[in-house]
Amino acid sequence: MRVLVVEDEKKVANFIQRGLEGEGFTVDVAYDGESGVELGSKNNYDLILMDIMLPKMDGLAAIKALREKDVESPVLCLTAKDTVEDIVAGLDSGSDDYLTKPFAFAELLARVRALARRGTHERGAEITYADLRLDPVAHKVWRGDDEIDLTAKEYALLEFFMRNPETTLTRTMIAEHVWDYTFDSFTNIIDVYVNYLRKKVDRDFSKKLIHTVRGIGYVLKEE
Ligand code: CA
Repeated sequence: MRVLVVEDEKKVANFIQRGLEGEGFTVDVAYDGESGVELGSKNNYDLILMDIMLPKMDGLAAIKALREKDVESPVLCLTAKDTVEDIVAGLDSGSDDYLTKPFAFAELLARVRALARRGTHERGAEITYADLRLDPVAHKVWRGDDEIDLTAKEYALLEFFMRNPETTLTRTMIAEHVWDYTFDSFTNIIDVYVNYLRKKVDRDFSKKLIHTVRGIGYVLKEE
């Protein structure tokens, strides 16, 4: 997980950097809005922590500039100002969450973990693999031009495959991610659902995308 901290108060920036590095994050720091935009658009961050009152370019303008450059990293705003207007302005400019200074590191860490985990997930970016296309907001899936009608579980299963393409997914991984539950003794429910999904995704197409990895699980790949 790589995090960018944009904060002009060196003491605060160092405090956040040290804390997050202690938790295993890789942390870059920018001390003004302009260098924040520069770094944020150059590197692919899992999360950007953005102070609002910054020299050269304020945090809200920096977030707007990043979004205009199609940077989709989630942004957590750090602000000393906690008025409703600022929060609304921040949300309009494309930030994802707020933390009002002063804050406890534990609270920052909880927000960072939640946002970094979410990633671009909630942002609604379409996911594509081969000729499959998935819209995470509308919960719709197409193969080529044809929309595929999936049940909620089939959709969740396909989304998990599409977020981890060309990666062998064990039945345990699938159970934990799609069912939020581990069931050791009856993992054949996974096989049943993968077969449902195959009927809808692969049956009418010559190129199969969902493959069995014998004794292990399944993989989404083109050959
Ligand atoms: Ca500041």
